[in-house]
Amino acid sequence: MISINDKTIGEIEDLFKEKSYQKFRAKQVYRSIHVNRINDFDKMTDLPLKMREDLKSYFYFDKIKVLKTFESKMDSTKKYLLELADKNIVEAVYMAYNDRSTICISSQVGCRMGCTFCASTKNGLVRNMTSSELIEEVYLLERINGPISNIVIMGIGEPLDNFSNIKKFIEIITDSKGRNLSHRSITLSTSGLSPRIKDLADTGLDVNLALSLHYADDKKRAVYMPVAKRYKIKDLIESTDYYFDKTGRRVSFEYVVIDGVNNLKEDVENLHDLLFGKNVHINLIPLNPIEEFDHKKPGARALEDFKERLTKRGLNATIRRSMGQDIDASCGQLRNNYAR
Ligand code: SAH
Repeated sequence: MISINDKTIGEIEDLFKEKSYQKFRAKQVYRSIHVNRINDFDKMTDLPLKMREDLKSYFYFDKIKVLKTFESKMDSTKKYLLELADKNIVEAVYMAYNDRSTICISSQVGCRMGCTFCASTKNGLVRNMTSSELIEEVYLLERINGPISNIVIMGIGEPLDNFSNIKKFIEIITDSKGRNLSHRSITLSTSGLSPRIKDLADTGLDVNLALSLHYADDKKRAVYMPVAKRYKIKDLIESTDYYFDKTGRRVSFEYVVIDGVNNLKEDVENLHDLLFGKNVHINLIPLNPIEEFDHKKPGARALEDFKERLTKRGLNATIRRSMGQDIDASCGQLRNNYAR
């Protein structure tokens, strides 16, 4: 059996040709999937009954089930615990603000990066999500919430550790004949797999890139992020510069503020030395405390103060808008709690 929702229109045409279907049938099926978000051949009523039955024996749709929804009482934010066909669990978030609606999606079941402050990686990597699951993850949330305008790949997993599936996913979701989401409305966040950042630039997909920097010093970074032992900050900057040169997209640097750990005087200076004069943006994110990491959420004052010290040093820093504060379990925590 072959999955159908992660195939380009050309690929479906080739597959259909083998089965001697007329060419226009491929277009019909493709539109049903990507324009109408249909994930069931029985619902493709513009196809002959016999053909629907046949298609079901050749192709399948990856189905994802909503196990639980957590709805904020303060704003539009909803968090979803999602069950994949093999019973593995991931998380996704829906947020609407002004006229934008954004979903945050997972890219892997678990993660093998091992960042000490992150809940998603606590039990390691189970497996990659397939491109077909990634597409269904988006369409499932769109069937519930209506069409979304932005996707951030910042849920469970390291997207660049699942490179080929992520690439295929972005290709399909941005296809002008299908879902037609613009490249610029997609943001991929990475813990910093330097060579893969360059590979991503070379794909020409031109999505927004966010780098989880969090520490501007290699030694300090390596204490909290094992990936920093493999790729030095110097390599990261070289690859983000490459990314900017190739795509013209301003890279943003994510910085999870851990009070007393990475908002010290030396951190301001290190960030200045690293990023001053570059066309980049520093996104300050308050730490979301997790059980396994013994640090508290920084106070509003500490955050604001750090932002001001960075701004005074000529850096472009903002504090990430916090949404769904009453359900602000950090990503990976819902899944871990459920497993327990
Ligand atoms: N693996 C990718 C994408 C998933 S994590 C990456 O590392 O970028 C998305 C963002 O959430 C990253 O910036 C990550 O460092 C951050 N994050 C992880 N744990 C967090 C926590 N407890 N509180 C706040 N942000 C956290």
